[in-house]
Amino acid sequence: MKVKSAYIHIPFCVKICTYCDFNKYFIQNQPVDQYLDCLIEEMSMSETRELQTMFVGGGTPTALSVPQLEKLLIAINKIFIISGEYSFEANPDELTIEKLKLLKRYGVNRLSMGVQTFDPKLLEILGRSHKTEDIYAAVKNARTVGFESISLDLMYHLPQQSFEDFQKSLNLALELDIDHISSYGLILEPQTQFYNMYRKGKLSMPNEDVGEEMYQYLITRMNNSTMHQYELSNFGKIGHESEHNKVYWKNEGYYGFGAGASGYVDGERYTNVNPVNHYIKKIKSNERPILHSTKPTKNEQMEEEMFLGLRMNEGVSISRFYQKFNISINEVFGQTLSDLMEKELIKKSEDYYSLTERGKVIGNEVFEAFLLSV
Ligand code: SF4
Repeated sequence: MKVKSAYIHIPFCVKICTYCDFNKYFIQNQPVDQYLDCLIEEMSMSETRELQTMFVGGGTPTALSVPQLEKLLIAINKIFIISGEYSFEANPDELTIEKLKLLKRYGVNRLSMGVQTFDPKLLEILGRSHKTEDIYAAVKNARTVGFESISLDLMYHLPQQSFEDFQKSLNLALELDIDHISSYGLILEPQTQFYNMYRKGKLSMPNEDVGEEMYQYLITRMNNSTMHQYELSNFGKIGHESEHNKVYWKNEGYYGFGAGASGYVDGERYTNVNPVNHYIKKIKSNERPILHSTKPTKNEQMEEEMFLGLRMNEGVSISRFYQKFNISINEVFGQTLSDLMEKELIKKSEDYYSLTERGKVIGNEVFEAFLLSV
């Protein structure tokens, strides 16, 4: 499996959000420059230099200072030739004109902004560093600098968020005529401020039905916009779907660089060491910075093919499944597929099995059926 994509992890943030369980650290007093040197060292060790997609995420890559950002961008361009999508994650308040111009100059062609909501009260509850007006300024400035592909992340099912609040945020996002929206419902994760507040009875969440109603509205509203749904939580204009994320959903190979990053190379899934100092130590002693790695069995790969592929509207390709595993999808999952089709959770077109509208709403239950069937 030839690797054609890479993910770079920048695990620093200027403020820690109340709901966040990502791999990130408050940037102050972190050895950011040393980290970047090690990251560049790790990238230089990769065999493949020609990539189709690159995604720089975090944390928040735009938390880096201008010189740090430039150092990273120069190194990426020295090490890799990126022929397609080159995305950067960004926080709206950190996207200054100077940083935008820098990103543009070094070939970044897609911005993925962590907006989450347009509601000032909710932004505060989430502990975000940006204000509503920063979103408008960031999108305007990005367009002025020449970015033609802008994606916004929006969250729903937030504490104190009514159905109307979400409706309003989504419509404000659409008014900006951006090119792509990713939208996820909040899940309370252990070891977050939100989780502790919830356990102490200090956080009121909307009930599950409201969350489902918001998701249904999201799908209907987006399909009545200039964007279309192409994955459970992702919507884009034609030509603006995330090619990088499709690599994950199609269960293809990619590099993961940086502390805590994961990759999938030559049939091996690996996760790098974390935290930052451990990662730096490994690289400095010329070791591969791997915490653990595993080679999924053929059965595990086939399960992954199903529950990742079914996330996409197009679904799982019957012919690609055969090419990859040398066995027909029906021979492996025939009974499960026909049970799910009978329940109208899955449908079949010429070369694809995909989720029905009902199947999308209870996607996780559908995926579990494939885990049990192998
Ligand atoms: S900016 Fe993103 S990565 Fe950083 S704390 Fe907030 S949600 Fe987490």
